[in-house]
Amino acid sequence: MRVCAVIPCFQEELRSSALEVLTKATIVASSSGGRVEAWLVGPTAEKHSSKAAQYGAATLRVMELEVDSEAKGVNVSLGRRIVDAVDELMTQSTAELATEGAPQPPSLLLFDNTELTKDVLGACGARLDAPVIADVVDLSWDGHQCIAQRPTYASKVMSKVHAEGSVILCSIRAGLFEPDEKPVKATTHRYKSRQTDLLGQVLKELVAPEGDTVDLTEAPIIIGVGRGIADETGKDLVAKLATLIRGEIAISRAHFESGMYSHTLLVGQSGKVVAPRLYLALGISGSIQHVAGMSESHTIIAINKDPEAPIFDLADLGIVGDLYQILPALIHALESTQA
Ligand SMILES: Cc1cc2nc3c(=O)[nH]c(=O)nc-3n(C[C@H](O)[C@H](O)[C@H](O)COP(=O)(O)OP(=O)(O)OC[C@H]3O[C@@H](n4cnc5c(N)ncnc54)[C@H](O)[C@@H]3O)c2cc1C
Repeated sequence: MRVCAVIPCFQEELRSSALEVLTKATIVASSSGGRVEAWLVGPTAEKHSSKAAQYGAATLRVMELEVDSEAKGVNVSLGRRIVDAVDELMTQSTAELATEGAPQPPSLLLFDNTELTKDVLGACGARLDAPVIADVVDLSWDGHQCIAQRPTYASKVMSKVHAEGSVILCSIRAGLFEPDEKPVKATTHRYKSRQTDLLGQVLKELVAPEGDTVDLTEAPIIIGVGRGIADETGKDLVAKLATLIRGEIAISRAHFESGMYSHTLLVGQSGKVVAPRLYLALGISGSIQHVAGMSESHTIIAINKDPEAPIFDLADLGIVGDLYQILPALIHALESTQA
């Protein structure tokens, strides 16, 4: 079997979620006698290839996508180009293995579970006529099929999903596997992409989503802000605390609706799924829809004035009290220790 970590490359640094996927790929490959490939696709693909080899990929398939602002045609999304690239890499690598006379092993394609992957995973599955298992928290290969675990019903139930086929696609929830360096000597294969499609669409520009300045899926510390933070005074306290503990701010749907914070910070069933080292839940009741987005956090600390709030069932540490009294005291204590 070949286990292929599919890594979209469009940033200066390789994302930690990509390293986690490589780490999981090496674990699955070593327990099933398979080998690890990294498929690096995007405008910064070449730049990241050596890093992929440091994390266990012995075969690097690199497809650099050129961004050409002068090109004729209309701009196409990076996601669309990645779907094309995965399709092309599958066709070309399969043909190469055939000419080498190597047997055609099943291919397990692993993606991280970012917003970009959510856009492309289904389309990749349709193109390759392959089963897709999204948002996986663990997976293994038993010699014939992929067995994956994924949360369902807003994380109330963990389901075991089996998939068979010559190609299987999975996305892996970020924050669950510690990236583990396993340097190997790698062979690099470079591929040229079709830059324009039949509709004359071409990659002219990468457009960042509006207001999306923070990548919550990569943040080690997240402060989740709920309805208990009710005004500008509370918002200022949260901002001070975030600076002191170097945390990123996320919100419950209460603040999606209040307009106090950007919509892009929503965590939960309708927002982002995160698994930071620390999730500090401030004035969040713990609805199943919110918990669906943060229940896999490594440590959860909740502050809430209601001792019966469901968030305390999930929290590793709970503090019962009024945020408007606790936060100033906490900030004061942190400032004193940092002074
Ligand atoms: C289809 C659907 C999808 C949804 N998707 C999402 C989603 O993705 N994400 C999401 O978050 N929600 C989602 N929701 C909404 C969800 O059901 C809850 O309404 C929402 O999560 C509640 O947010 P909250 O915990 O901030 O507010 P509340 O439930 O109102 O809780 C506020 C908490 O703050 C505490 N509190 C108040 N004042 C203080 C104080 N001064 N000090 C300390 N504690 C205080 C209260 O005791 C209470 O526990 C969805 C709902 C539906 C129907």
